[in-house]
Amino acid sequence: MEFEPVIGLEVHAQLKTHSKIFCNCSTSFGAPPNTHTCPVCLGMPGVLPVLNKKVVEFSIRTAIATDCKIARKSRFARKNYFYPDLPKGYQISQYELPIAEFGHIDIEVDGNKKRIGITRIHMEEDAGKLNHDPARPISMVDFNRTGVPLIEIVSEPDIRSPEEAGEYLRKLRSIVRYIDVCDGNMEEGSFRCDANVSIRPKGSETFGTRTELKNLNSFKHVEKAIHYEIKRQEALLEEGGTVVLETRLWNDANNRTTSMRSKEEAHDYRYFPDPDLLPIVIGDEWISKVKKDLPELPNEKKERFIKDYELPEYDANFLTSFRELAEYFEECVKVYAKPKPVSNWIMGSLMAILNAEGKSIKASPISARNLADLVKLIDEDIISGKIAKTVFEEMAKTDRTPKEIVEEKGLVQVTDTSAIEVIIDEVLSKNPDEVEAYKNGKTKLMGFFVGQVMKASKGKANPKIVNQILKDKL
Ligand code: ADP
Ligand code: ZN
Ligand code: MG
Repeated sequence: MEFEPVIGLEVHAQLKTHSKIFCNCSTSFGAPPNTHTCPVCLGMPGVLPVLNKKVVEFSIRTAIATDCKIARKSRFARKNYFYPDLPKGYQISQYELPIAEFGHIDIEVDGNKKRIGITRIHMEEDAGKLNHDPARPISMVDFNRTGVPLIEIVSEPDIRSPEEAGEYLRKLRSIVRYIDVCDGNMEEGSFRCDANVSIRPKGSETFGTRTELKNLNSFKHVEKAIHYEIKRQEALLEEGGTVVLETRLWNDANNRTTSMRSKEEAHDYRYFPDPDLLPIVIGDEWISKVKKDLPELPNEKKERFIKDYELPEYDANFLTSFRELAEYFEECVKVYAKPKPVSNWIMGSLMAILNAEGKSIKASPISARNLADLVKLIDEDIISGKIAKTVFEEMAKTDRTPKEIVEEKGLVQVTDTSAIEVIIDEVLSKNPDEVEAYKNGKTKLMGFFVGQVMKASKGKANPKIVNQILKDKL
């Protein structure tokens, strides 16, 4: 039987506010345990939460950027469960009235465009962190993270392959970074994803039973875990077994998911409206103001790059995947208006050195101005493409301009025909047999002659002129 996977993703994005969602403790990462705490986020009896307005603004921003409908009135709810990292015994979240619903994100996989629905976005507080001591049978709890603001973005079960899931996540992360509400760091846990996976016979309209996968700390893990889970469920059904609703953990060391616990259901949490917090009422003026302040979004930027710079879709998609990368490109083009060659240098040589050194574009050793100037030197025939590679490598090591490097190392391309002629004459007189063979019809030797001349000129002769003169002389 042929099966079709059905996938829905839940993403928790940590918001980049300075203070927590219901108190003024700092949200900064890496402080000594329990130093960013107060009676409110420690869940002391008798304290009252006060909502951080920035959290609502960031949620509105995300809702607009994902085309959601923003609720004019939404409300916080208590989600009750016991765990040592949750001092109140309940998490303040949203339930029946989330801040936003009915959105979507457009993705593209293998040239196929697809729209993935967003069911809802809701605000909630993070829990603390348990640190298990490997040497002793104890765990220690750190409450610095309790009350750090999160938004949960829940997708519709519209995703049909691990690749689509990866693409949806990349798009979503790109969006929250563009609008500056979340740093998107999956390894540090500020952008976390649970994947819900089920399969059904191809052509069937009803959904199968899903499992929920946790512990996915990178894009690679998400795709690998979903892939594994689809295969596991297929094997199970083919054997005549059934999939059970459960939470499974991805184990990257042995490349498989293992059962963690049976899946809790909404009624297990005994949700009820939080009596300590007023409903959140959002007026049109606030939404318009947030909308006005929103930067250009990745898809809008991509369309503009295609239209204004006449870039191929691939280039436009690549360059707009990070806001800083797009800014770098636009800075280059401002210095020298040749978008395609600039794009080639960024996607090729620049990415290669950034990847090799594990650096982001913000830490690029080559400034946009210097890269643009390099492209200009090639275009103006001052250096050849080959020499440009050497100059580029030198630029990556030092902080100097391409002009300085070219002048200092004497790399200026020789376009003076009489100088090139001298070299050519020498090469021809040193290789009489090849000249004879060429004249007898072995024209393939042209490449040999060009190579010899380039070598003799240390790569500085202009290849176009070399070819021209060689042809004339031979
Ligand atoms: P819970 O908190 O119980 O996991 P949510 O509503 O927050 O519930 O998230 C459920 C997620 O599971 C959504 O992303 C939804 O699209 C997805 N989903 C629901 N049913 C299925 C299914 N049969 N197969 C795959 N994914 C599913
Ligand atoms: Zn606090
Ligand atoms: Mg879930």
